[in-house]
Amino acid sequence: MEISFHEEIQRLRLGDGETFHGEGILAVTKALLQSGVAYVGGYQGAPVSHLLDVMVQARDYLDELGVHVEPCTNEASAAAMLGASINYPMRGAVTWKSIVGTNVASDALSNLASAGVMGGALIVVGEDYGEGASVIQERTHAVALKSSMWLLDPRPTLPNIVRMVERGFELSEASNTPVIMELRIRACHLRGSFEARANRAPAVSTRQLQDGPPAFRYERLAHPPEIFRQEKLKSAVRMPAARRFIVEHGLNETFDGPERELGIIVQGGLYNNLVRALDQAGLADCFGASRIPILVLNVVYPLVPGEIREFCAGKRAVLVVEEGQPEFIEQEIATSLRRGDLQTRLHGKDVLPMAGEYTAEMILRGLEKLVAAEAPQLASGASAAWIEKIDGLREQASRALGAPLPPRPPNFCVGCPERPVFAAIKLAQRDVGAWHISTDIGCHALATFEPFSLGNSILGYGMSLAATAGVAPTQTRRTMAIMGDGGFWHNGFLSGVSSALLNGSDSILVIMKNGYSSATGTQELLSSPPEEAKQAAREKSATAANTAIESTLKGAGVKWLRTVHTYRVAEMAKTLREAFQTSEPGLKVIVAEGECQLERQRRIRPLAAAALKGGERVVRTRFGVDEDVCSGDHSCIRLSGCPSLTVKDSSDPLKVDPVAHVDNGCVGCGLCGEVAHAAILCPSFFRAEIVQNPGWWDRALYRMRATVIGWLQPA
Ligand code: SF4
Ligand code: SF4
Repeated sequence: MEISFHEEIQRLRLGDGETFHGEGILAVTKALLQSGVAYVGGYQGAPVSHLLDVMVQARDYLDELGVHVEPCTNEASAAAMLGASINYPMRGAVTWKSIVGTNVASDALSNLASAGVMGGALIVVGEDYGEGASVIQERTHAVALKSSMWLLDPRPTLPNIVRMVERGFELSEASNTPVIMELRIRACHLRGSFEARANRAPAVSTRQLQDGPPAFRYERLAHPPEIFRQEKLKSAVRMPAARRFIVEHGLNETFDGPERELGIIVQGGLYNNLVRALDQAGLADCFGASRIPILVLNVVYPLVPGEIREFCAGKRAVLVVEEGQPEFIEQEIATSLRRGDLQTRLHGKDVLPMAGEYTAEMILRGLEKLVAAEAPQLASGASAAWIEKIDGLREQASRALGAPLPPRPPNFCVGCPERPVFAAIKLAQRDVGAWHISTDIGCHALATFEPFSLGNSILGYGMSLAATAGVAPTQTRRTMAIMGDGGFWHNGFLSGVSSALLNGSDSILVIMKNGYSSATGTQELLSSPPEEAKQAAREKSATAANTAIESTLKGAGVKWLRTVHTYRVAEMAKTLREAFQTSEPGLKVIVAEGECQLERQRRIRPLAAAALKGGERVVRTRFGVDEDVCSGDHSCIRLSGCPSLTVKDSSDPLKVDPVAHVDNGCVGCGLCGEVAHAAILCPSFFRAEIVQNPGWWDRALYRMRATVIGWLQPA
């Protein structure tokens, strides 16, 4: 990857008493090293990508400490890494995006949780829930419950996040159970500081090697008949040990307040939003001093019934602030109250929404209902005024606009090599007819939005080809699956290609070979461009040298295999037509080759800047539209979708419709020219070369052209 984490890596070296400033997720990274972690793995994904990205780039330093770091090919392999902590007193941490990553890792996690761990095992998950989320909306909580793994949800301040990482390892060891730490998007990206401690070199590590395996102990295996004993251990031994540890080390926090007849129990991760809502309701100051006592659950599973009852005793009512469904925590609290014969009334999902993110506004609306029902004397009118103001602003905005704002879906980057493939699909469908498209996770899923609107299902990362198995036999035309090279290595080869080959599938698979796991932050893959190709930065076909995907497919038995450069739209459309019309049976694979433009630009721009500074000749390509020729029908825009290809008013008063226009964002990828040619559009596109630091030949050529043009122009 071309992003440098140089500064972040320096912060990892901070010692006792020094102050760490930075993002929440990077505080976790430092806390892992302070905890003496021996190995780190994971699969990148927002919002926890930086944890692994920084660790991978800090390999040299980690090597000094003896810490092993490994970017895994998927979450299942990351979870399996934690197997090291079953037999050895080694602390390990892995990370991924949840819920999707946790789903992929579930099998290994179940086995790990059954066997139990000797060394602390911590799973840091990015809880991608609520506004800005990019995955299905489910909770990691359910997985923690079903496998009996403990779940931390730290109150979002850097010192508390760091404390919970360190205590998380201890909790894991005290109860022989893996621990999950969920971090919401805002917790990962909040900024703050904490007092650092020196990093601890692990006792067993790549520098402190062990001599041979441990003594054979069958009980360490998640295998019958041990699994029956292990299930009992979870509830009879590990859970009580965890609850003891939580109480003895004060993992949950209580903030007292004068209105002791009421109480609020909140998931740690929602504490900041709750305080903001209380502040707006006039029930807390902006520093968080609340009038209503608050129990903050930094550990949301297991709950400690004694702790819950102690907090609720003597209160008329408590409110549980628990985001998402079902209300696991609220139900468990209800059970604790009932079993303790406490008459405290319980509120939660009766005043707060069942689904969706608990923003400060959502919580405030719930608080208002709570106060109205349980303590009307606390109603100051402040919350009603705030809600009225927000509702008023919304109404004012919709009145001013006259109609709802048109949606602005995300789009491929300017110059993205994947965009031309969808232009080619549109062209091929004109001849072949529409076909079923099973799409996948990755940048290419952006083609499900306008102007392409292509794709009929998404079943998970690398699952597109497998998802055609039931559809293909029922269609008059072949079906197509699209996946990225990230998806191919993550799961697509095993779940899709091998199954299709085994079953003689006649489907078509398009693999977007852009060289990186781009949608997760452009991390490297088995098929990433080799270093030499990267050095040849100005060559457009820089990815051609890595044929790992093609050799894997050939080795597995794929007979119909084509590699086409994505920017060659006409050739891509022709290959697609061939794939649909050939009599050749079996799986047909098109490898769509074109390096991720984002990654390529990150590499090229500094090189171009250095060349410019050094006085070298630098040529940039740009496309444009001749507005005198453009008819204003915008078919190019419908086939391109590039954000740089836009519209503007024509300077010709006889042209009513706006004309197409290429703005300054154009990186000159060439798609405009290719589409205009392949779709036989109007000849309004032109290609221009901007020459900086021109040589004598450039100047001479320019003078000659200017002269000829001058002759042709009327005086
Ligand atoms: S990150 Fe790369 S592959 Fe993804 S949309 Fe941008 S240019 Fe395309
Ligand atoms: S050439 Fe066309 S498609 Fe490519 S970046 Fe420029 S405007 Fe966008």
